[in-house]
Amino acid sequence: MSHEKTILIVDDDAFSRAFLKMCLNDDYNIIEAKGAREAFEILLQTDVEISALLVDLVMPEIDGFTFIEMLKGTKQYNNTPIIVITGSHDVESETRALSTGAWDYVTKPYNANILKFRIKNAIDRSQLELYKAFKHKVDYDDLTELYQRNKFYEEVEILLKHHKDIQFAMCRLDIDRFKMYNAYFGMPTGDELLRFISKQLLESITAFEVGICGRIEDDIFCFFVPYDLDKIKEMLENLKSSFREFNKSFDIVPSVGIYPVEDTTIPISMMYDYATLAAKTVKGNYTDFYSIYETKLRDNLDKEQSIVNEMSAALKNGQFVVYLQPKWNSLNNRPVAAEALVRWKHPEKGIISPGEFIPVFEKNGFISKLDYYMWEAACKILRKWKDESRHVYPISVNVSRINFYNNHLADIIIELVKRYGVDPVSLHLEITESTYSDNPEVMLDTIKKLHAAGFKISMDDFGSGYSSLNTLKDIYIDELKLDMKFFSKGNEDRGARILESVVNMARTLDIPIIAEGVETKENVDFLSKVGCHIIQGYYYAKPMPVSEFEEFVDKAR
Ligand code: C2E
Ligand code: CA
Ligand code: CA
Repeated sequence: MSHEKTILIVDDDAFSRAFLKMCLNDDYNIIEAKGAREAFEILLQTDVEISALLVDLVMPEIDGFTFIEMLKGTKQYNNTPIIVITGSHDVESETRALSTGAWDYVTKPYNANILKFRIKNAIDRSQLELYKAFKHKVDYDDLTELYQRNKFYEEVEILLKHHKDIQFAMCRLDIDRFKMYNAYFGMPTGDELLRFISKQLLESITAFEVGICGRIEDDIFCFFVPYDLDKIKEMLENLKSSFREFNKSFDIVPSVGIYPVEDTTIPISMMYDYATLAAKTVKGNYTDFYSIYETKLRDNLDKEQSIVNEMSAALKNGQFVVYLQPKWNSLNNRPVAAEALVRWKHPEKGIISPGEFIPVFEKNGFISKLDYYMWEAACKILRKWKDESRHVYPISVNVSRINFYNNHLADIIIELVKRYGVDPVSLHLEITESTYSDNPEVMLDTIKKLHAAGFKISMDDFGSGYSSLNTLKDIYIDELKLDMKFFSKGNEDRGARILESVVNMARTLDIPIIAEGVETKENVDFLSKVGCHIIQGYYYAKPMPVSEFEEFVDKAR
């Protein structure tokens, strides 16, 4: 019969072994060795886990004491229970055996039942210790010796239970650009930083009457302390300066989110999520490096979630509609083209503007579906104008950068205009320069194909990024689109001068230019003066439904 646990008997006396085996056979698998040497051979070769060893003391060649010592010196068996079973009744032998590492000492003649209990107890104890060692490994982070996530949450739970009178704060800290730090200085140095942070954190929280800290993952740490804002602020300032001292050649800046726990019944993971939300608001911010959670943040999250929940159905049910905003020629005061801008006509919430949902769609990838929908809608409009023998104004559509992860983007757009029998020249594609820095090869390749097929490419929001000028050196662009809001921020006068020089540069490069976000007569006059005559903005018209657009431009012609 096979049992769960196996015991190795090491005794040179065949009769002793047989008797032991008879006693234990019902409960354990038994393996026998006639001496220490054979025992070692078995231990080295066997795949079976040995739960305990029963060892005789007096054996030829290698005696029991020496055998125990040797076992203790191994990695694999130094925690396996060893029970000495011997005829030696003297105190000296017993002391020596126990001090060498035997777990128990049983003299002959023994009572079989009692022996069984002793063996069972020893095995249970060894397993408990194994479990504890395992649990320690799971609960504590190897690198920093701080609590790992689950253990940290458990400890938070306990703190909340024992200190009902204290309001706590869940604080989450990470290091800006930690990946860069790692890449720059190497992993070992990165690890050193993490250990340093954990040491500092442990030390800092001693300023509070209670408090714990843990490492959640990578460079993310958490600490849970009473919500005393002044104290927390002081602690954070100290932490920050200690980080600065740690490595002077890299600006180690933490981002910290603080969630003052108002509701102790919510899951701890949610407290952590709130702290994370708060931390996100200061990421990459140079003036503030910590922020306190406000319900506004959660409302944003909820809003985002409902957008995600509803988007697919909304697309299917035609809730996304095209608005057109005219592009105007200020010289002859006539419309020249249009930009298609999406609006979400929500059955309950009314019209939602793209500023609310486009960033969400860009995050989760849904934008490529919506964009395709908009391109197709634009094609339908162009087709309709042609069929109705109207003037066909070129329509610009937005092509979000995520589309460029698709190597077939050009083919997809080409197929679309073919299907609707639309002239590619009347579908303009607006892309932003950030697309270029993301994925230059695919972008260049795609643009080449689109140009070859006859499409016009417009660089949207030109002037909003850093690499504008460089981008122009590499890609052939049919139109630059300047958003006035990027030029009027702060110093109006300087903005105007920069704008002027960009317009001049575009002229030198022979790239047509259009200004958008033009709201006032002064804007128009200024743009005329510097030689920019194509204008899109509220000054001429806001984006409007297609039928309205048709009426509007009919009147203006
Ligand atoms: P954008 O492509 O730069 O579009 C111009 C935005 O400026 C539009 O906002 C337009 O309504 C607004 N605008 C036009 N003239 C003026 C003005 O004189 N003053 C001011 N303050 N604003 C003006 P909208 O329609 O809210 O769109 C915002 C952004 O959402 C767009 O910026 C674009 O990035 C994105 N978006 C809109 N529709 C789509 C789409 O179908 N696909 C993609 N990928 N993005 C879209
Ligand atoms: Ca645009
Ligand atoms: Ca724009």
